[in-house]
Amino acid sequence: MTALDRPPDSKKLLALTLTLIELFNQSPKCKRITVAKRHCDPVIDHYASSGHPHHFRFAERMLNCSPEILIRLCSEITSEGVIAKTSIENARWCHCRQCPLCQFAKASKQRAVLFKAFGTTDLTVQKYAFLTLTQNNVPLDQLRVTLTNMTYSWHKLYRRRTFPAVGFLRSMEVTMQRQRMPWDTKKNTGPAVRSEDGQLMAHPHFHILLDMEEDYFERGFKTTEWFVGQWRSALKADYNPIVHIKKVKAGNDEDFSKALLETCKYTVKPADFANDLLDSKTSKIYSDAKPHGAEWLYGITEQLDGLRSLGLGGTIKKFCNEEELHQIEDTGRANNEQSQFGKLVKLTWDDTRRSYNAVELDE
Ligand SMILES: [Zn+2]
Repeated sequence: MTALDRPPDSKKLLALTLTLIELFNQSPKCKRITVAKRHCDPVIDHYASSGHPHHFRFAERMLNCSPEILIRLCSEITSEGVIAKTSIENARWCHCRQCPLCQFAKASKQRAVLFKAFGTTDLTVQKYAFLTLTQNNVPLDQLRVTLTNMTYSWHKLYRRRTFPAVGFLRSMEVTMQRQRMPWDTKKNTGPAVRSEDGQLMAHPHFHILLDMEEDYFERGFKTTEWFVGQWRSALKADYNPIVHIKKVKAGNDEDFSKALLETCKYTVKPADFANDLLDSKTSKIYSDAKPHGAEWLYGITEQLDGLRSLGLGGTIKKFCNEEELHQIEDTGRANNEQSQFGKLVKLTWDDTRRSYNAVELDE
């Protein structure tokens, strides 16, 4: 009798299972889902205390958002070692647009659809570029009209005969404008900036993955200044808007993944809904800071209502299922939710520990 013929040792199996759950507990996905659930609290508080009947219903729904989540877990050996591969099998999402947990779930599902679609293309050929288009920051009550105008301007720009791309995947992101602190190098982390009439200021921008024309990287290369000039005229702006354009290196999985992840993350950062009035360095209260979380949430809820966060065009629209991406945004459901692989594990939210407990289920 060889080792393979023997019945599996139940103790060993248990150890393997524990390892899998432990692997999950240490995984970035577990961390992200826990953080997303924790980010729900300030949002629920703001909605519950607004006095608006719609907001109150959002708070009720969000309170019941996914206290239990069924996932499939399996281990996968990668160059970085053994990792837990997770797919969400079943959960009771609340479907509130600003729910951090639902946003997390939708973004993961959209990512899965996009990675699968781009996996069918040849990523060793140099063809993609990553473009960021911005415009001047606007008071929160002008965000909707600004985003609508930016979308219109983007289509105008993309359709120009001189524009060197044949396909695009575009997402919108809105961040709250914050003051720059002396130690800030990349991002501004200070208190919220307000307009003269006291409104919070929004920074709307587009992240766009571009499929460039065939000879672009050899012969058709355009400078950042060219993109700035083109975006300025499409936007009909009387200033030079900030634009970034960079090559997504062919054959470099990391570079491509980074660009794709950047185009399908949160539209609005959940952390901006919390009243973080403390200086992250000194832990002292900012002298000129006012609570902004509720105000930002109510404004964002109204201004983004019904706006699509993702848009596709040209060649990319041919191999990416735009309908499915929109379906995920509207209903939280992808086409093929059930995975056949791995152990079925139930995550139950523990309010005291403020994290999910993972338990393996018998099938
Ligand atoms: Zn939710």
